[in-house]
Amino acid sequence: MQAAQSIALEPCPLFIGGEWLAAKGVGGSPVHNPSTGEVIAETPLCGASDVDAAVQAAAAAFPAWWETPPTDRARIMFRFKMLMEENFEDLVRSNTREHGKTLVESRGDVRRGIEMIEFACGIPSLLMGESLENIARGIDCDTIRQPLGVCVGITPFNFPAMVPLWMYPVALVCGNTFVLKPSEKVPLTAIKIVKLLEQAGLPKGVLNIVHGGRDCVDALLTHPRVKAISFVGSTPIARHIFEVGTKNGKRVQSNGGAKNFVFLMPDADVENSVRGLVEAAYGCAGERCMAGSTAVVIGDAAKNVLPPLIEAARAIKVGPTDREPQPNMGPLITRQHRDRVAQLIETGANEGAKIAADGRTVKVNGAPNGFFLGATILDEVQAGMTVAKEEIFGPVLNVMRFADLDSAIEAANRSPYGNGASIFTRSGEAAREFKHRIQCGMVGINIGVPASMAWFPFNGWNESFFGDLHMQGKEGVQFFTQQKITTTRWFSFGEGDIWHREPQK
Ligand code: NAD
Repeated sequence: MQAAQSIALEPCPLFIGGEWLAAKGVGGSPVHNPSTGEVIAETPLCGASDVDAAVQAAAAAFPAWWETPPTDRARIMFRFKMLMEENFEDLVRSNTREHGKTLVESRGDVRRGIEMIEFACGIPSLLMGESLENIARGIDCDTIRQPLGVCVGITPFNFPAMVPLWMYPVALVCGNTFVLKPSEKVPLTAIKIVKLLEQAGLPKGVLNIVHGGRDCVDALLTHPRVKAISFVGSTPIARHIFEVGTKNGKRVQSNGGAKNFVFLMPDADVENSVRGLVEAAYGCAGERCMAGSTAVVIGDAAKNVLPPLIEAARAIKVGPTDREPQPNMGPLITRQHRDRVAQLIETGANEGAKIAADGRTVKVNGAPNGFFLGATILDEVQAGMTVAKEEIFGPVLNVMRFADLDSAIEAANRSPYGNGASIFTRSGEAAREFKHRIQCGMVGINIGVPASMAWFPFNGWNESFFGDLHMQGKEGVQFFTQQKITTTRWFSFGEGDIWHREPQK
C-alpha cells in the first residue's frame, strides 16, 4: 500500500554563513514518519555549488573563530547545553517523528548528545600543551595545539541527535569551523539542534549545514578548503570516504558498520542476561551499530537461556511511536529497509537457520502504513550464511551455538568487523579470557551494549573503523587539532651570548 502524503511539509533549509536558506533547483529525497509512512519533509539534494558556498562561509569564519579564546568558545557550549535541556522533550519528539524509535530511546539519543556537549565544555584543558626547559643549554621546547580549519561531518540515520554531536561540539571548541551534512533520511532534528547552537551565540559561518546524498558528499570530500572529515555510516561508504578523503589530502576518521557478539556462558544469570540480550538485540529496532545482533550460546547456556529469550522476543510489543501508548519497539526507517530485513530472514531460513521467533507475522493496530517488523530469532546460524555475514540492521537476533568459550572466541574473531562484544558470566576467569582475546574495540562484561561514553573514544576496530583517531574523548580532540612544537633560544644582546659561556665551576 502506498503511504499517504502529508499536506504541510516541514522545511528543511540549508544553513550557510548564518542564514537559513531554501535550496534552489535541486531534487529532493523524502523524509518519512516511519510510524505512519507519511512524508513529513523533503531533503534537498545539494550539489557542488551549495557545498562550495558552505565551505567558503566556514573558511571565511575560521580566522576570527580561531582567534576567539578557547574559554569563550566553550562558554557558547555551556549555553548550548542549557538550551538543549530546556528544549529536551521537543527534540525527543522530533527525533521519534522522523526516525521512529520510541520516546524512551529518543531520550537516550538526545541525552548522549548532550553528554558530548558537556565533554566539549571541558576541552580547553585538553588543548593545553607540554613544555620542557633546557632541552639543550638555554633552549626550551613547547607544544601547542591548533585547529585544522574547515572540518566536515557526514552522519547516518540511526542516531539523528547524537551522532552529529559526536563531531561538531569538539571540532568547534578546538577552534575549527564546520560543515555538517546530516543523513538525508533524518535531517530535521539536526536542524533544530543547530538552531539552539545559533541561539547560544555561535557566530555566523562557524557551523554550516548542507543536505544531500552521494553528489553532496563527493563535493565535500574533494573540496580543496576542507581539512578533515568525520564520517559515520555503513562499512562500504565508510571505506569510500576514507579512501577518497585521504587521497585528497584530508584527515579522516570514518566509522563503519558492525556485527556484535553477545556471549552467554552456561553460568550466566538467566534473568539478567536475557534482559541484556533483548535490549541489545531489539533496542532501537536493532538499528544500532552496537546492536547485539548475534547471541553466542556456549554449552548448556542454550538450555537455560533460549526458552526465556524466545518468550521475551515474542512478547515485544511493536507499534507506532508517535503517540501514546508507547510500544516496546518502533518501526524501521523506511519501507525499503523493512523489506530488505524481511528478505534476509527468508534468506536465513533458506540457508538452514531455524526461525525461532518470526517478526514478519507482527500485527500492528492503527498504523497500516508504518514500516514495522517484529522481533525475530534465527537459531542454528552458521558462519557461512548470508545472515551471519551481512549487517542486518533490524530486529533480528542470530543464535550461534558453540561447545566451549575457546571455539566461540575463535569464530567471533574471524568477523571482519570490530565494534563491540559482550559476555554474560559469573566467572571472572572466563570474563578475563574474553576481554583479553576478543578482537574488537568495545567490550562488555555483563553489559549488553558496551557503547563508550563521551569521555572515552568510540572505539571501533577492523572494518568498523577506518582511520587513526576515533571520535569522542581525548582522541576526538587530537583528531581536530594539530600540534606545533616550538624550540626557543633567547640571546642576551650587548653582553654576548651568555648561554654559551662555560658553566661556573
Ligand atoms: P549509510 O552509509 O547509508 O549513510 C551514511 C551517510 O553517508 C549518509 O549521510 C548518506 O547520505 C551518505 N551516503 C550514502 N551513500 C553514499 C555514497 N554512495 N557516497 C557518499 N555518501 C553516501 O548509513 P545509514 O544507513 O545512514 O546508517 C546505518 C549504518 O551506519 C549502519 O551500517 C551502522 O552500523 C552504521 N553506524 C555506525 C556507527 C559507528 O560508530 N560505527 C554509528 C552509527 C551507525
